[in-house]
Amino acid sequence: MDQPKYKRVILKLSGEALAGSAGFGINPPVIKEMVEEIKEVQALGVEIAIIVGGGNIWRGTTGAEMGMERAQADYMGMLATVMNSLALQDVLENAGVPTRVQTSIEMRQIAEPYIRRKAIRHLEKGRVVIFAGGTGNPYFSTDTTAALRAAEIGADVILMAKNNVDGVYSADPKKDLNAVKFTELTHLDVISKGLQVMDSTASSLSMDNDIPLVVFNLNNPGNIRRVIMGEEIGTTVRG
Ligand code: UDP
Repeated sequence: MDQPKYKRVILKLSGEALAGSAGFGINPPVIKEMVEEIKEVQALGVEIAIIVGGGNIWRGTTGAEMGMERAQADYMGMLATVMNSLALQDVLENAGVPTRVQTSIEMRQIAEPYIRRKAIRHLEKGRVVIFAGGTGNPYFSTDTTAALRAAEIGADVILMAKNNVDGVYSADPKKDLNAVKFTELTHLDVISKGLQVMDSTASSLSMDNDIPLVVFNLNNPGNIRRVIMGEEIGTTVRG
């Protein structure tokens, strides 16, 4: 049988991936479909760490637009990612996948604190590790968290799972009929062309640390497996 292309991956899910068609809140049956795919690739021996956003519950920028102090609103966003991470852990464990949540901000009654070496040990033992709470700092995003943790744990790739978007386009394909999809890009292309892949802090960190990304459509069943097996779907972004 073909071998997976990657040994250790970071799977970045946006918060909206947990919400389903409602676009808001947490929908466990939707999570279950994703978890079945994660379970399948884990059975191939792939080490999987997951970072989930919080946009289905709260974004710091939304609070700031409504007059809140940005840092305060961002801490709320970080807490939203913890709720999502716990929901994901619940569904993973119900499916028989041993999972540990590590938080960047200590909340020991709920999850382990983030300890890099311990996270690597969990992965080596076949546990899925979910990094919750973002970087633990306001003014950052969970995309930046994905780039940071990928560098820290030596991940081979960041799998950027998108909702109903199958890669990176030259313009928004919903608004511009001439938009073309890229199959390969460099991080510098993404930054200089201002492409909608991840925020610029996350792109710079990925570029500086030579971390490749694959941007693909999560809503197409089987795609997580396809990407991990090395099928060329979506857009690959390299150093
Ligand atoms: N956040 C933060 N620092 C981090 C990661 C996240 O302040 O290191 C906050 C920020 O307010 C952000 C929110 O958490 O808007 C949710 O994360 P994100 O927007 O990345 O979620 P996604 O868009 O992937 O659902």
